[in-house]
Amino acid sequence: MKLPTPYALGGTYYVETVSAGKETDDETVRDCVVCGGHVYADDWHLVTGVVDTTGGRQRHHHCSDDCLTEWLRLMATD
Ligand SMILES: [Zn+2]
Repeated sequence: MKLPTPYALGGTYYVETVSAGKETDDETVRDCVVCGGHVYADDWHLVTGVVDTTGGRQRHHHCSDDCLTEWLRLMATD
């Protein structure tokens, strides 16, 4: 889902997209950036697309909406 208005995280970072991801890749396991829990690529999880206005994009993976909310709160605190 592309946000109608990018959400400012501070600095040059903006959240551009938030989506639910599920990939066919069953080997990739990522760490949730908030709780450190496992995020399996082949299971449903939340993916945040962050754009850096100086160039570049990042994707962050979150195990739950609670962790996404917490992450946004942390990131937006300057
Ligand atoms: Zn988490």
